[in-house]
Amino acid sequence: LSQRLHGIPPTIFTEISALAVRTGAVNLGQGFPDEDGPATVLEAAARAMRDGANQYPPGPGIPVLREALARHQQRTYGLELDPFSQVVVTTGATEAIAAAILGLINPGDEVLVLEPYYDSYAATIQMAGGVRRTVPLRAPDFRLDPQEFAAAVTPRTKAILLNTPHNPTGTVLSADELRAIRDLAVAHDLIVISDEVYEHLTYETPHTPIATLPGMAERTLTISSLGKSYSLTGWKVGWATGPQHLVAATLSAKQWLTFTTASPLQHAAAYALDSEPTWPDHLRDELHEKRDRLVSGLNGLGIPTTTPQGTYFAVSDVRTLGWSDGDAFARTLPDRAGVACIPLKGFHDSDAGATLVRWAFCKKYDVVDGALERLARAD
Ligand code: PMP
Ligand code: GLN
Repeated sequence: LSQRLHGIPPTIFTEISALAVRTGAVNLGQGFPDEDGPATVLEAAARAMRDGANQYPPGPGIPVLREALARHQQRTYGLELDPFSQVVVTTGATEAIAAAILGLINPGDEVLVLEPYYDSYAATIQMAGGVRRTVPLRAPDFRLDPQEFAAAVTPRTKAILLNTPHNPTGTVLSADELRAIRDLAVAHDLIVISDEVYEHLTYETPHTPIATLPGMAERTLTISSLGKSYSLTGWKVGWATGPQHLVAATLSAKQWLTFTTASPLQHAAAYALDSEPTWPDHLRDELHEKRDRLVSGLNGLGIPTTTPQGTYFAVSDVRTLGWSDGDAFARTLPDRAGVACIPLKGFHDSDAGATLVRWAFCKKYDVVDGALERLARAD
């Protein structure tokens, strides 16, 4: 194994999903919905295939999708983007993150990330030769301490890799938190790469892209994808938007990673954004109910669980169940109870995640209820 990947374990999502299949457990681990997105969008993909959209599309994405994305950012957030120089389509948000890091980070550059961090951030920063520095979102309410954030900046800091709404904690960064990050980014001339894949899945607090704050549009690359907003995670259609220099750097790396992204799915993504603009709102309303069901169910079983403001994940601390090792708890839960969850140890550099686990509630009502029943029976 190359040094680039040294010490990076296989992604926990693959491990836990395989364990769930092997044991027949209800899988509240990996975050993917068990119902597909809109039928009209599925049909748009089939139509695009039948109509011959089956060869390499342009590397940066098909024009109709880039235009639809520019319109989405304008209509939703008032962000004005040139579809041809300020929008790039990627193979999932995962590729956008990797391409942005590879295109913008030099060996030795420091990248600030919130802890817990999504596992691909650590891997891609390391692959680029960058150095990860973490700033904690502290349990139980997972808020940011602006002073702690400021203290993490050094002369080598190049970028902040932000994630709001935040996986796994469900934190939606507040106006004050975003302003504090903005002040630091401007003061130290930092790039902000903002992963906003859960942009449409917020319950009480609305999502604000940091790119909309004064002084930020020119230094922020905003990343999102179709997967979460339209329940099409297996399509892996994502994108990055922002100032021309950041988009161009992302594209420079993307062209050597995948060159381009599946053509019929790009056509269907454009259709989704233009013709099903309110679908994510219905998804959000349903997830809101499922969140309340799961969180109150877990708390009722004596498993202390926070109420996420966004995303489709909830975090529990298993200490009160008598477990000091959340990793062992999660790895044995499928056998013990027939339910799978994700241990959060691997999303931390500190030991703050040692007793935390994450549950996904993007599942049918009876699946959520079934998981709670199994947990209730398990002791
Ligand atoms: N970022 C975050 C925070 C995520 O939770 C995920 C998982 N979907 C991704 C990026 C990856 O998104 P995609 O499936 O579009 O690559
Ligand atoms: N983003 C989803 C999660 O956090 C899926 C991750 C993945 O499959 N890489 O569970």
